[in-house]
Amino acid sequence: MHYPVTTLGPGRRVGIWFQGCSIRCPGCISVDTWRAKPAETTVEQLVRSISQWLTECDGITISGGEPFDQPSALHALLVALATFDKDVLVFTGYSAEYALQIMHGWDGGLIDALVSDPFEQHTSQTKPLRGSDNQRLNLLTERGAARFASFERLLTPADRQLDLLIDNDGTAWLAGIPRPGDLQVLQAWLFAEGHRATTTELPHTAP
Ligand code: SF4
Repeated sequence: MHYPVTTLGPGRRVGIWFQGCSIRCPGCISVDTWRAKPAETTVEQLVRSISQWLTECDGITISGGEPFDQPSALHALLVALATFDKDVLVFTGYSAEYALQIMHGWDGGLIDALVSDPFEQHTSQTKPLRGSDNQRLNLLTERGAARFASFERLLTPADRQLDLLIDNDGTAWLAGIPRPGDLQVLQAWLFAEGHRATTTELPHTAP
């Protein structure tokens, strides 16, 4: 969990990343989220630990990893988050049709906007909130349309940003959607400054 995330939806958002992904898109920049274990928590613990952020944020973004690989946990989390009355954006590597099938029987309105479909390494990237242009922005509620319809456009220079978040233990995290090759450029800059840096795109590169 991170806050504030400003590059994955409008405003200052709480970001929640699910651990574990069975889709395994080639070129995924989040290989660290593929393994399901050993990270485990409960919905109650999670919500309790970030309740202050949830109260003051402008919206909530759920990504991964693959949230729909844990459908009952995702549902329980969404129900708990609904009490905070914030817009909810969810990223999935599954198709929207498959995600909606999983959501069958859930109360309506738990997800306002859904970015669906797998990342395609060799497909162009010209739209905000999407790593590749095959991915779709699905507006599922009136609030989703009001908050996210403006993201159905071409990328602008202002969209080319990443959040840098640093945990209390010094761990640095990047949030946002980089351009293809951005992480290699960052890695080269860090090497030039004498730092060691690996990315999930290039895990074995050394200075
Ligand atoms: S669905 Fe997302 S986390 Fe999973 S492999 Fe694809 S891009 Fe990576």
